[in-house]
Amino acid sequence: MIYQRSSALFSEAQKVIPGGVNSPVRAFKAVGGDPVFVERAKGAYLYTEDGTTLIDYINSWGPMILGHAFDPVVKAVQEKAEKGTSFGMPTAIETEIASLAVSMVPGIEKIRFVNSGTEACMSAIRLARGYTGKDKIIKFAGCYHGHSDSFLIQAGSGAVTFGSPNSPGVTQGTAKDTLLADYNNLADVKRLIEANPGEIAAIILEPVAGNMGCIPPAEGFLEGLRQLCDDHNILLIFDEVMTGFRLAKGGVQELKGVTADIVTFGKVIGGGLPVGAFAANSKIMDYLAPVGPVYQAGTLSGNPLAMAAGLTMLTHLNTHSKVFLSLAEKTAYLHEGLAKVLTQHGVTHSINRLGSMISVHFAKDEVIDFKTAAAGNNDTFNKFFHGMLNEGIYIAPSAFESWFLTDALSYRDLDKTIDAVGQVAKVL
Ligand code: PMP
Repeated sequence: MIYQRSSALFSEAQKVIPGGVNSPVRAFKAVGGDPVFVERAKGAYLYTEDGTTLIDYINSWGPMILGHAFDPVVKAVQEKAEKGTSFGMPTAIETEIASLAVSMVPGIEKIRFVNSGTEACMSAIRLARGYTGKDKIIKFAGCYHGHSDSFLIQAGSGAVTFGSPNSPGVTQGTAKDTLLADYNNLADVKRLIEANPGEIAAIILEPVAGNMGCIPPAEGFLEGLRQLCDDHNILLIFDEVMTGFRLAKGGVQELKGVTADIVTFGKVIGGGLPVGAFAANSKIMDYLAPVGPVYQAGTLSGNPLAMAAGLTMLTHLNTHSKVFLSLAEKTAYLHEGLAKVLTQHGVTHSINRLGSMISVHFAKDEVIDFKTAAAGNNDTFNKFFHGMLNEGIYIAPSAFESWFLTDALSYRDLDKTIDAVGQVAKVL
């Protein structure tokens, strides 16, 4: 057994950590078996505690666009650490990264940093409610916006993988303020708005979904939401925790030419350190304390190590914007290769891709929302996952996740991945 040491580490972990993991998606509960423990990573590769090397298609669930342990980021963090790791006082670097982010992302004038994507989305919703004076929000089935109470209603990602899209512990009072629509379905959104006149503060969505596999927005969907929000005095929130600074410098807003009222970020903006952020125009953002009445705070928010990593990452992306093109080309190459070998072996599949996000659903119909994603064959996916792991390729241990490419991947790595899919497809 190759992953003997990982299994031993997992046994120890389970004694003191619930389920042995600090975030459920890390466990192999859906696909079966014990999770692999990573010892270190560099570029496109993970080096496991068991001495194997894996080509990584998770990339910390998104942020490692430039590869693991990217030298400039490592150096920036080391230098900052020597000067102190947290002060709870303002630092100049916070303004530097805020200015850079504001210059890269369309439509935003001010940004506030937090410590995770969950915090960013939770705070964005509170701000939207405070600003509009309304309580209800619309979210989409299969979209994931972190684990705060309002969002654990038909949530995607680990919430659906582990069968608790509606988590116990969320009160009915909270749940009733979250209305649920089908992704890519404007009529459904209209129906909810009409049934709740004057009550909806915000519509929040992943403008390219990544938590039910990758699902791009249908033609006109984002534009239609923008129009509905304008017509009904509702704030449009783009959760760009996965897509921000990954699909383009300015995220999906730039890519699709649709502007949101509030945008949330995470992961990428911290260069792999624990950072999230939310941003909007000054009028909306000045509703936040200490200027405005909506309270939001954090001892470690704007932490110097996190800001140093994030600033280095964003600066690099800003000055090397060809990265986005190169990533999209690599992903298109992978898409073509995967489709070819799966078709050759007669495996029913449906592949979605946008920029550097891609996912393979073992479904016969096009995957456009949660229902069509859930129609995929999970048994086939589980076999596929373990087969790929045996071949040295690490994808997310759930059918309801996107793959995230890093620019550190070479075409040789991509060919190796396509060959591996060819091997695995034989037994699917
Ligand atoms: N929004 C989206 C779109 C996400 O994908 C995630 C996490 N995968 C979150 C919010 C929550 O971020 P975090 O895990 O950093 O709290």
